[in-house]
Amino acid sequence: FAIEKPANDPFLGYMPGSAEREELKKELERQSSQVVKIPLIINGEEIYTEKTVKVTMPHDHSHVIAECCMAGEKELKLAIETALAAKEEWENLPWEHRSAIFLKAADRITGSYRKVLNASSMLGQSKTVFQAEIDIAELADFLRFGVWSAQEIFKQQPLSVNGIWNRQDYRPLEGFVCAISPFNFTSIGGNLPSAPAIVGNVALWKPATTAVLSNYYYMKLLMECGLPKGVINFIPSAGPDVSKYVLSDPRLSGFHFTGSTGVFQGVWKRVGENIANYHCYPRLVGETGGKDFIFAHNTADIDPLCAAIVRGAFEYQGQKCSACSRVFIPKSIWPVTEKKIKELVATIKVGDVQEFDTFMGAVIDKASFETCKGFIDRAKASPDCEIIAGGTYDGSKGWFIQPTVILCKSPHYESMVTEIFGPIVSIYVYDDDAFDETLRICDTASPYALTGAVFAQDRQVIAKMEKALRNASGNFYINDKCTGAVVGQQPFGGARASGTNDKAGTTLNMLRWLSAHAVKEAF
Ligand code: GLU
Repeated sequence: FAIEKPANDPFLGYMPGSAEREELKKELERQSSQVVKIPLIINGEEIYTEKTVKVTMPHDHSHVIAECCMAGEKELKLAIETALAAKEEWENLPWEHRSAIFLKAADRITGSYRKVLNASSMLGQSKTVFQAEIDIAELADFLRFGVWSAQEIFKQQPLSVNGIWNRQDYRPLEGFVCAISPFNFTSIGGNLPSAPAIVGNVALWKPATTAVLSNYYYMKLLMECGLPKGVINFIPSAGPDVSKYVLSDPRLSGFHFTGSTGVFQGVWKRVGENIANYHCYPRLVGETGGKDFIFAHNTADIDPLCAAIVRGAFEYQGQKCSACSRVFIPKSIWPVTEKKIKELVATIKVGDVQEFDTFMGAVIDKASFETCKGFIDRAKASPDCEIIAGGTYDGSKGWFIQPTVILCKSPHYESMVTEIFGPIVSIYVYDDDAFDETLRICDTASPYALTGAVFAQDRQVIAKMEKALRNASGNFYINDKCTGAVVGQQPFGGARASGTNDKAGTTLNMLRWLSAHAVKEAF
């Protein structure tokens, strides 16, 4: 049994009149005219609890599309026992049979489930059709590349044969893995519990309640594809309950996370406090915040630079950990760059994502809306900056923030260094002579190191920028935007306050869910 290195899944175009557009429109109508009751799924069984939360559409926040059951102490403890009970059979299932479940799921994601997943992430997470489509394709990629990476690891690795036979094999972790996923990518939601499971672990999966509709459909799909009961348990729940009943359990063996830096640090503390009680040291794998940059040199090509800033900052309302949120431009090219950025921002259509020409939907919820509003209001009142595009918001129907560009007098102004996670980008214009010093500021002004891009044509300068910013990101782009890493092509992850940099969808990530076992045999 060996599979070829997979190809990335191609995107569909959804052009007017195309069959895929018509089908998706019908699915959007179907899903927006119902309220789905979302159960927990523990041991393969749907469990309905009394405690529920309502799920609304960010771009029409009085419109309820789902009601999600929440797990409490009883269900969380049940999920742990269930996962552990499923463990032995699951890890002993020949790995090609485990893989077949996820490969089958990948085929259905890009086949019959495509419209279901796309519609649910458009309605539930306010994604435009293009943003939904790239997310769904990435989910299939994560599964296929995950299986392929696992295969690469499971190839037996004889270390030497010389009167003795030394070999190394890999065991799933003892205990269970807890996966906590964010709202912004359905692909990440699906990948966080699936990656450990592919290599033989059992998991509890706490999705973000704001993304729970698309995540629930993925969970149902896995069950349909033959995932044995208890291997992944779907437990929407409150963070403090998970911390108390799941993270402190002595059998916790790993934690797979994408979300805020603050939450990850809280988990790290919780695990630290409890460290003497665990059966094994839990593996903590996290992708957290970012303050991702685009840094231009005066030899940069203006058109691709401005397109990268606008797409990087505003696609999916800036709600990507990788979103471009701080920009450094030399004074000599600022007039032409400013003009172009303003022109591009003026073309952005913000609104209902069910209209296929919308470029930006709403931000995810009221809390996010208030955060963005706060940054905009403070910028308006500050003598240290000027809003040169956008700067308005309207939360009456949906959580809409206009794409906003803040020109800052200092590279240390709050919006230049603080993660916002919304459609707000800050720009600092530097003296051409202060190029070296500004590179140093870019490297040190924020605690994060997720993504970054540089724009220049001069090769010596590109090499210099790459060197100066070597530790300022985990994903570095030259003459391209800093978002949109493709699984298998640009392995994604960041360092410093941005995470543990265990590149999603790769062998590096898979190895975190395995415990190596060295064997010496004498002949
Ligand atoms: N992988 C995504 C990208 O490159 C970002 C993932 C995230 O927001 O966590 O844009």
